[in-house]
Amino acid sequence: MRPIGDSVCPVCGERLVSPLALAAGERCGSCRRAEPPFAKAVAYGSYDGRLRELIHLLKYEQVRSTAGVLGRMLAEAVSNLAPLMGGGNILVVPVPLYRRKLRQRGFNQAELITRDALKRMGGQRFAFEPGILERRRETQSQIGLTRHQRRENMRGAFKVAKPGEVKGREILIVDDVYTTGTTVSECARILRRAGASKVYVATVARTVKADARVVKLQPEEEKQAMAAAG
Ligand SMILES: [Zn+2]
Repeated sequence: MRPIGDSVCPVCGERLVSPLALAAGERCGSCRRAEPPFAKAVAYGSYDGRLRELIHLLKYEQVRSTAGVLGRMLAEAVSNLAPLMGGGNILVVPVPLYRRKLRQRGFNQAELITRDALKRMGGQRFAFEPGILERRRETQSQIGLTRHQRRENMRGAFKVAKPGEVKGREILIVDDVYTTGTTVSECARILRRAGASKVYVATVARTVKADARVVKLQPEEEKQAMAAAG
């Protein structure tokens, strides 16, 4: 299991590969182009290897016991948000599944992981509110879509089912994996529109850019390739 490390965007957690951006503590290109609707997104680790296997065991093999270890990881990720959070109660909202998917799988993995994490996070500060968001339709896979297409794909996919409970509140959205960020961004966007004062995101895993060391090697590799090509 690989931790993502410190060299990440302070807002969305994407790995920063530019040494200049790293030195300046800058945001990633994506967060600079468009301000995300959430204050900060954190993840426990990189979505590969053993961590990816654990998530797949839960989601696709229905091994519910893995929710325990994933919940512990989630709680650890959330602890990195604690210094930013206000004094009031934080509403914790797992990303909902569409009802057909929920029937197929029998459970919402984000909800199981959140339930376990909350046991470790001290019940006083956090209020579990799975009914606040509702998924109104299935969304097609985001793979291969442009940023614009991804946002179009998500439009209207979620609804704030209890807008009265959201106004002026700080909300923590939880999901198993952060891939492009489009799903949690759409959830955060509609929660903010419904009056949430601040929205945070925590996931167990996150897809990250290739390792910075590999990227730094590229010019040298290019030179070698050019030399080889003659
Ligand atoms: Zn970013």
